[in-house]
Amino acid sequence: MYINGTWVETGNTFDVTNPATGEVIGQVPDASAAHIDDAIGAAHDAGFSWRHTTAYERSGLLYRAWQLMLEQKRELAELMTREQGKPLKASLNEVQYGADFLLWFAEEAKRVYGQTIPSARKDQRFWVQKQPVGVVGAITPWNYPISMITRKVGPALAAGCTVVLKPAETTPLCAMAMFRIFEQAGFPKGVVNLVTKLDPAPVGNALCDDPRVRKITFTGSTPVGKMLNERAARHMKRVSMELGGHAPALVFADADPVHAAKGLSLVKFLNTGQACISPNRILVQREVMEPFLGELGKRIGGMRAGNGMDEGVRIGPLINEAAIVKVDRQVRDAVDKGARLLAGGERLLTPELAGGHFYAPTLLSDVTPEMLIYREETFGPVAAVIPFDTEAEALAMANDTAYGLAAYIYTENLSQAMRVFEGLDFGIIGINDINPTSAAAPFGGMKESGLGREGAREGIEEYLETKLGGIAVA
Ligand code: NAD
Repeated sequence: MYINGTWVETGNTFDVTNPATGEVIGQVPDASAAHIDDAIGAAHDAGFSWRHTTAYERSGLLYRAWQLMLEQKRELAELMTREQGKPLKASLNEVQYGADFLLWFAEEAKRVYGQTIPSARKDQRFWVQKQPVGVVGAITPWNYPISMITRKVGPALAAGCTVVLKPAETTPLCAMAMFRIFEQAGFPKGVVNLVTKLDPAPVGNALCDDPRVRKITFTGSTPVGKMLNERAARHMKRVSMELGGHAPALVFADADPVHAAKGLSLVKFLNTGQACISPNRILVQREVMEPFLGELGKRIGGMRAGNGMDEGVRIGPLINEAAIVKVDRQVRDAVDKGARLLAGGERLLTPELAGGHFYAPTLLSDVTPEMLIYREETFGPVAAVIPFDTEAEALAMANDTAYGLAAYIYTENLSQAMRVFEGLDFGIIGINDINPTSAAAPFGGMKESGLGREGAREGIEEYLETKLGGIAVA
């Protein structure tokens, strides 16, 4: 753990395993209550001077961390593939995406502007200044184990906040590698602190309950997000919540079904379906169902599962056994209730995949609202296809979910694209495009997918307080 500028070890450790092989690849410290308290104390104390550094100083350190990430891109990506399982090419992309946030917020640090406001009184002036929120407690998931760190730590540090971060217990090694970069970049001691723990609850509870922490930023599942939000509310803490999703993808009859199938096969199976923006329901207008399914089935049939370090592997392992069980339960339930299984639908148990958590890339058609997969986030390699007849029907089905993170539209009709974009209750919408994400663009969800936005201009606002000054001028 990295606490107050020092790497801290303990006798208590827990194992980190490679999900592709089951092999133990590291041991990390299991924090005690005292470690968590030390980390919060260090962040609190460091905040007194950090908040008074100039935006240019903070920007320079973030810029240096960005450079170090790019210099160490390959090593970071290889570590990510071993620890999380995604194919090496996807890991390289994630390191780049993660680094983009450090560069973006190195720049945004210098653009935290206030304002002056005219008063109705002649003898009065108003002005508004921004100041850092204070100590930030950050909790990150395993599926994007590097970019979810920089997406929080980048804007927090840029704003002048200090941080205590707890990474997912399955991917602490990537977090440690990132904190080595923050150390090398030269952030003063106590400004960024890393606490690793097998049982996440005591860390979450301490971050919510300790009055020295002023903000909770969380990426993970909706149930945990709700619990943290409730607990943080007891102390009136600011929160940012990036939670689960159940993205609909709408393919209209005037879209090119081959192009749509190509795009959706890429985004659906990205990170083996373990992405919050992964399309969970693919709604296809009946006229183009046949060519769409034909192309999607062909592409899924050509996907190779295996260890992400091997050339040509598209489907990495799922993170753990529980994920396999969840995916398989959704597939069985759908088939039992009448879905057609067009590809996959089983755990992969060949000798070369022994020890890993692999599930075959799967295609289900004729999915209906009665099936679990229609409502539950799958987080696995299953494409669930649903037919529709009219735009109104598709919109109603798309919005029939408690989630509101990402959605996708395929159509060549501009008016239809605008109507559907405006009608969808989702925070991120790709139109004939499967990658509507960038450090420069606001990322976040509506409804039970969360609160707040990460990246973009909005991303730094999440870490700033607004302070009003009013002065009587004689
Ligand atoms: P998770 O909620 O189980 O875990 C996320 C983090 O929360 C981990 O660090 C975990 O240790 C911690 N955690 C778990 N229980 C906790 C508790 N009681 N107190 C404090 N911390 C606790 O989710 P996961 O399985 O790791 O991640 C997958 C989920 O994350 C999916 O639902 C996915 O959609 C979501 N996600 C959302 C985004 C987004 O930006 N909206 C991005 C990536 C992942």
